[in-house]
Amino acid sequence: MELIGPDHSLYDVLRKPALPLYADIRPAAIARCSSSSDVTEALAYARSANLPVTPRGGGHCFAARSSTTGLMLDLSPLSTITVESTAALATIGAGARLASVYRELHEYGLMIPAGCGPTVGIAGLTLGGGLGLLGRRYGLTCDRLVAATVVLANGNVVTCDAERESDLFWALRGAGGGQFGVVTALVFNAVPSPAATRFKLTWPRSRAAEVIAAWQSWAPDAPDEVTASLTVNANQVQVFGATLTAFDPGSLAALAPEIDLLAGLSWPQLKASLSEGGPDNRILHSKSEFFRSPLPPDAITQLLNAGCELNFTPMGGAYNRVPVDATAFAHRTERFLLEHAGPDRNAVRRSWSIAHAYASGAVYPNFPDPDLTEWHTAYHGPNYPRLRDLKAKYDPAGVFHFPQSLGGS
Ligand SMILES: Cc1cc2nc3c(=O)[nH]c(=O)nc-3n(C[C@H](O)[C@H](O)[C@H](O)COP(=O)(O)OP(=O)(O)OC[C@H]3O[C@@H](n4cnc5c(N)ncnc54)[C@H](O)[C@@H]3O)c2cc1C
Repeated sequence: MELIGPDHSLYDVLRKPALPLYADIRPAAIARCSSSSDVTEALAYARSANLPVTPRGGGHCFAARSSTTGLMLDLSPLSTITVESTAALATIGAGARLASVYRELHEYGLMIPAGCGPTVGIAGLTLGGGLGLLGRRYGLTCDRLVAATVVLANGNVVTCDAERESDLFWALRGAGGGQFGVVTALVFNAVPSPAATRFKLTWPRSRAAEVIAAWQSWAPDAPDEVTASLTVNANQVQVFGATLTAFDPGSLAALAPEIDLLAGLSWPQLKASLSEGGPDNRILHSKSEFFRSPLPPDAITQLLNAGCELNFTPMGGAYNRVPVDATAFAHRTERFLLEHAGPDRNAVRRSWSIAHAYASGAVYPNFPDPDLTEWHTAYHGPNYPRLRDLKAKYDPAGVFHFPQSLGGS
């Protein structure tokens, strides 16, 4: 374990998370961990120095949970990916980022369903669920997890799967990161790496209300092979995503969009084509919620007048074919997720309040929202009591602690 203090040349590079909003949080020290035993050593150091401790994967947490003024565990050296291609098993170090996961797995003709941001960390994404362009076909990222190596709060290293520490294995699939221990490796049952078509359907913003209305009754019920997200910004409304079969825009065709198609892409090419333009360095606030029924026309009008960026993600498909209690991820009956984003926190709150009246009340654990008071049920639904009990079992002293962490008020 290498301990990096504020005077070290790497300190600023390592401590800064992906979101500029949290760039000023300064850890007392950073422990660079290259193995499970490094993590054990780092936890012992935090205990002896009386420092709070938090693991950092890709650093994309919307609520700064991987930033701390205590000891930050930098897991980026743990980024090895190994593949047993005949068994379609991929063992991925907890510090790996999505772009390298896609690249490496594709070399073996394999893939996992996972998210869009190329620098998002595989660990944070998986522990909170994992939505992505293969999700309606193959489920959440955590639905493909078959085992994990975890360093518990007491420093012990355990492997969990369906037979060993099965409670912990259940809890790791969707409760959110940083709750039960430090994951050092994740084993996934991979799927064939598909060829796909990337589509973008674009209209001027003045058409947004009718496009949203049509999208709501099409995208969540589209074939599993189609994932069509919708985004509205100040200039335009766009429906974009991927299809594993021939492109068919369904009812959106009648709205005469400008259509941009790229067919026959490998999965890494498709992901790269959707990440063009590089990282978003704007300081943005965001809030989100799940919906089980469509927004009515007057709510859509009010939302568009509120002026925030609106991002709709379709659920349904394989996401919703897993029982609510099969994994910690409780949101298996939702139709879509709506995220409100913008530079003005109060405008984002107003926009969220307009839609909230029609929402299911469920919130994606990977999009944490510090404003939530009823967060126990919003994030975890009926799985909260079991998760609270498992938190007491695996981390009785609350070593892994943050606002809205399991067991908190
Ligand atoms: C630009 C951007 C794009 C995104 N795209 C998607 C998307 O397409 N699909 C989607 O579902 N989500 C997406 N997200 C949300 C993303 O899933 C969450 O922010 C996720 O928590 C990020 O994981 P991370 O490792 O990058 O972040 P981090 O901030 O490093 O970690 C997030 C949480 O997990 C904990 N954690 C990290 N590593 C470990 C570990 N090894 N063991 C235990 N706990 C750990 C951290 O302490 C923290 O609480 C996106 C977010 C951003 C900012």
